[in-house]
Amino acid sequence: MPKGHYFIPDPINEPILSYAPGTPERDELLAKYKEMYAQEIDAPMYIGADFVRTGKTIKMTCPHDHQHVLGQFHEGDASHAQMAIETALAARDQWASMSWQHRASVFLKAADLLAGPYRSKINAATMLGQGKNALQAEIDAACEFIDFLRYNVSFMQDLYMQQPESADGIWNRTEYRPLEGFVFAITPFNFTAIAGNLPAAPAMMGNVVVWKPSYTQVYSAQIIMEVFKEAGLPDGVINLIYVDGPVAGEVVFNHQEFAGLHFTGSTGVFQHLWKTIGKNVEKYRSYPRIVGETGGKDFVIAHRSAKAKEVATGLVRGSFEYQGQKCSASSRAYIPSNLWEDVKKYVVADLKEITMGSPEDFSNFVNAVIDERSFNKITSYIDEAKNASGVELIAGGNYDNSKGWFIEPTVFLVKDPMYRTMCEEIFGPVLTVFVYDENKYEETLDMVDNTSPYALTGAVFSTDRYAAELAVRKLVNAAGNFYINDKPTGAVVGQQPFGGARGSGTNDKAGSMMNLLRWVSARTIKETFLSATDYKYPFLG
Ligand code: NAD
Repeated sequence: MPKGHYFIPDPINEPILSYAPGTPERDELLAKYKEMYAQEIDAPMYIGADFVRTGKTIKMTCPHDHQHVLGQFHEGDASHAQMAIETALAARDQWASMSWQHRASVFLKAADLLAGPYRSKINAATMLGQGKNALQAEIDAACEFIDFLRYNVSFMQDLYMQQPESADGIWNRTEYRPLEGFVFAITPFNFTAIAGNLPAAPAMMGNVVVWKPSYTQVYSAQIIMEVFKEAGLPDGVINLIYVDGPVAGEVVFNHQEFAGLHFTGSTGVFQHLWKTIGKNVEKYRSYPRIVGETGGKDFVIAHRSAKAKEVATGLVRGSFEYQGQKCSASSRAYIPSNLWEDVKKYVVADLKEITMGSPEDFSNFVNAVIDERSFNKITSYIDEAKNASGVELIAGGNYDNSKGWFIEPTVFLVKDPMYRTMCEEIFGPVLTVFVYDENKYEETLDMVDNTSPYALTGAVFSTDRYAAELAVRKLVNAAGNFYINDKPTGAVVGQQPFGGARGSGTNDKAGSMMNLLRWVSARTIKETFLSATDYKYPFLG
């Protein structure tokens, strides 16, 4: 145990490297990208100290070059989920009783590895396997992941500092125990940082974890595990398995020691998991913690006082960076009639200039969507909208899957503000615009609030302070992350804690103390120095 009261180093956000022509980081990243493109890896599952290869392999390919094979991973079955749970539980006692400063050191070292020797590797993997351009990879796989690790360690320290008062003659203290059992982390394809944080946050708090990533993120998941191991994470604390979701779920959600779910992904899957856990509640030793960050139908509303160029730039970046595959991406916009012609002109001009292609060519702002399933889903929305009455195609609308899963940034204008693409999460480069009567701002705010079941992110553009305040007030429950005069994407750990409510999740704010609270179960200890020796209270006299 520590013999001193130590403070961990104050975190600062990892600086974002520019990758501008002539910078050393650009050359290093390109070289690493080419080196990894030319190799084929054989990715095992990581269960305890074992690298598990089943021989049942699945190919990993590039979204922008779907015939190019990056390697293969070994798929497991229910027995591997069972093995991962047993291995995690066997590691639990030692990890849970390690002093928190030593746990902190493991994750601080992982952050330094990512910031230094692993930076180009994790970024190149995210470009190759998930189809991000250099900047999108940098802000996710390097910076956000590093920030999650460094800030969470700091929030862990803050959490442990929360202590009760003590009256005369007694000493009260609270200890923040890890959950009794194991945590199941299920992660999405679209953020390497989320994939790393979902198992890391509970582990940091002393929990043991079974981690199941998306099959389209395994390529960078490998590197996350490599980093954790090099940072000294003991075997068995985080166990990485490639098992089909429902197969793993069947084992995990029937296990007595299942203690918590850390999920990010779509709303439908999360609701299904919640129901399963509810149905099995009598099987568990404790009530499991359920944390889920899920889908969004994120909005931008402009007031008539807004500046058209600022609105247009917010829409182009907010809707089309990473091909609209951010849970926070704007996908519905409400533009006042006085601004629409200008906003349209600027958006169309930007989209004419934007090029789409491989992330290896740094001039491409837009790359491919993740896989065939997404490509088919997104293009079916586009086809339907192209043929619908009352819907006008403003930009894009074309797609091509011959080499990669490419879909042009697409903008539709709708007469009906409840048209499908204004309400449903498409998760691709599709923005739908409704033009409202500039004198009906307040009614339009009500419409924004009532259009979708989600409440993840949203933005208002206005130079009129009363109008901005009205939006903040009327849309109080419409977004967990709300922006004034900025795009609704790009939350930074430590600055804009992230998460949504309503259908968008439990709003436990990833990368904040609020999230870490879910991975501990407090025990209060009261110690009395002079114990009572007479049962009689004075009032009895
Ligand atoms: P998804 O729901 O398809 O998959 C997420 C994870 O759940 C994957 O690992 C998948 O294999 C697993 N899964 C699917 N069915 C399962 C089952 N029955 N049992 C157990 N696991 C199961 O999501 P995706 O396509 O990977 O990611 C995109 C979605 O994630 C979008 O809806 C997006 O809005 C959301 N997302 C939300 C946030 C947020 O912070 N709110 C962040 C990123 C992504």
